[in-house]
Amino acid sequence: MTARILSGKAIADEILGEVATGVAAFRDQCGTVPRLVVVRVGDDQASAVYVTKKIEASKALGIASEHVHLEPEVTTAELARVVRRLNDRDDVDGILVQLPLPDHIDEHGILESIDPQKDVDGFHPINAGRLLEGNPALAPCTPAGVMEILKRSNIEIAGRHAVVVGRSNIVGKPMAMMLLAGHATVTICHSRTADLAVLTRQADILIAAVGRAGMIGDDHIGAGSTVIDVGINQVSDPALVMQMFEGEDLRRRLAAIESRGSTLIGDVNPKAALNRAAAYTPVPGGVGLLTVAILMKNTLTAARLRRGF
Ligand code: NDP
Repeated sequence: MTARILSGKAIADEILGEVATGVAAFRDQCGTVPRLVVVRVGDDQASAVYVTKKIEASKALGIASEHVHLEPEVTTAELARVVRRLNDRDDVDGILVQLPLPDHIDEHGILESIDPQKDVDGFHPINAGRLLEGNPALAPCTPAGVMEILKRSNIEIAGRHAVVVGRSNIVGKPMAMMLLAGHATVTICHSRTADLAVLTRQADILIAAVGRAGMIGDDHIGAGSTVIDVGINQVSDPALVMQMFEGEDLRRRLAAIESRGSTLIGDVNPKAALNRAAAYTPVPGGVGLLTVAILMKNTLTAARLRRGF
């Protein structure tokens, strides 16, 4: 069996097109456009790249955006003050504090300080609670993106067994809640799960959100399942790459390690997924592309809800 590749690009483009239309309608109705403010602390390179992508995506859709960049030494109290000022600004619809924050900052406290109505990342406990109740307004972007991939690829969710590997607050737990809301029977696995492969092999839909390159292999994947790879791992070990790719793909991956020092690999061994699954999201080119698209959608949703439509 060779799995159908579920490309994130086509689905992300579809959603971005819908958001662009929504932003134009919003402008016609309100005489203004939604505004997103991204707050970044310190000089983490990956965070800088993610923030640039978010600002560029906003611009392309006609969403106004601001990038607030703070020194790595900023205190929790100072950062909370910045967030409160944004909460108070009527022209700001969405606030996103880019994670991870430096260790000395109380990350949980900062996320709680964001006005839930402007919490476009969907991490505030109020939005998490709404999701738990099956009544989300602003849902976390990555799992919401996975749901869009499943729905828009016509993958049946209701009545199917979904196994989520990972239980973080930003991916695993909200993912499980969204699948439950979609009437799947959901199993959540984590680092203390005994006999992981026995459980994951039973999945009709397997979601890997672990942060370990290629750990989901042949033994973990049930024949004919749908495998969604959320993982993003920088791999620099050619031996590991050789276990996961062959032919032209292997050549390109090894060349990337040679020239850039690493290559991007998901939590699923692609060779195993292609051999055993019926459908599979690649890394890169799968779930990652949806995250920014859903952020844009959430910004438009927040702007509409704040104005009561
Ligand atoms: P976390 O590190 O917060 O959570 C990882 C989860 O995996 C934990 O629940 C952990 O269990 C579980 N886990 C770790 N090792 C094992 C194991 N051997 N067997 C079973 N479970 C295990 O990561 P995130 O949820 O933030 O991210 C997960 C992955 O998704 C990462 O690769 C990240 O880069 C990627 N990601 C991708 C995004 C995208 O846009 N595509 C966005 C966000 C994340 P325990 O709770 O017991 O420790």
